Amino acid sequence: MDLSNRVAIVTGSGRGIGRAIALKLAEVGATVVVNDIGEAAQGVAEEIRAMSRQSLAILADVSSSSDVARLMETTKATYGKVDILVNNAGITRDQILVRMSDEDWDRVLNVNLRSVFLCSRAVLRQMIKQRWGRIISIASIVGVAGNPGQANYASAKAGIIGLTRTIAREVASRGITANVIAPGFIDTEMTQRLEEKQRQELMGHIPLGYPGSPRDVAEAVAFLASEEARYITGQILNVDGGMAGAWL
Ligand code: NAP
Repeated sequence: MDLSNRVAIVTGSGRGIGRAIALKLAEVGATVVVNDIGEAAQGVAEEIRAMSRQSLAILADVSSSSDVARLMETTKATYGKVDILVNNAGITRDQILVRMSDEDWDRVLNVNLRSVFLCSRAVLRQMIKQRWGRIISIASIVGVAGNPGQANYASAKAGIIGLTRTIAREVASRGITANVIAPGFIDTEMTQRLEEKQRQELMGHIPLGYPGSPRDVAEAVAFLASEEARYITGQILNVDGGMAGAWL
């Protein structure tokens, strides 16, 4: 895999899975724009520059149209183009449906799904012109299976799947692919917030018997971003230790 001369944006890459994706894409040669809502993006961009790759941190809330416009304009002004967009930013606000507030529904839909619409729309015109592009969005196996307490999150992740399949069909003739990665249980701050009982229950559903690492997701992203994956589009790749197969 060689992503030299490719420019990638990874949303929500200040920590967790996004950080691992940004570092992996840089490892295989890409110039990487590290986006995050918080300051952690700066540290990841520094780590990448220490690998002798180009990198820029851009703080932006990807659920905001004006922030996304600034993210894309700054990237194009600095590096001239975007070849790879990884829609990774995501949050949870868990609650059973009957108790879920309008605010928690809206925020999760906005950060997890509206962001994918805004960022994908913002990069597509230029990708169409250059007749090459990769859009890789991080959903979740919960988007297919559903999960009690996560109506907002599961709906957003299911929406990413429909959106990706639509993008894949709209731009297939222009050399652009769009795919989803659906992680299972990956060890990050998001899952460290779960109660021990919930963690143990989830572990019981993983045939491989251990949680995935952010690096496991990053390896799959790098493959889908590469030239070698040119004939793969509109797909959902589960990175889940066999969890979806055992659960669904
Ligand atoms: P995480 O550790 O909570 O990291 C999420 C990152 O997104 C953080 O750096 C966060 O920034 C950033 N972010 C949040 N809101 C943002 C916004 N509005 N604009 C820009 N950046 C924003 O989560 P993770 O576990 O790495 O998850 C990454 C992705 O994988 C998410 O889409 C998640 O739904 C998905 N996923 C995770 C798992 C899992 O088991 N961990 C499973 C399935 C799917 P701050 O740190 O500043 O808040």
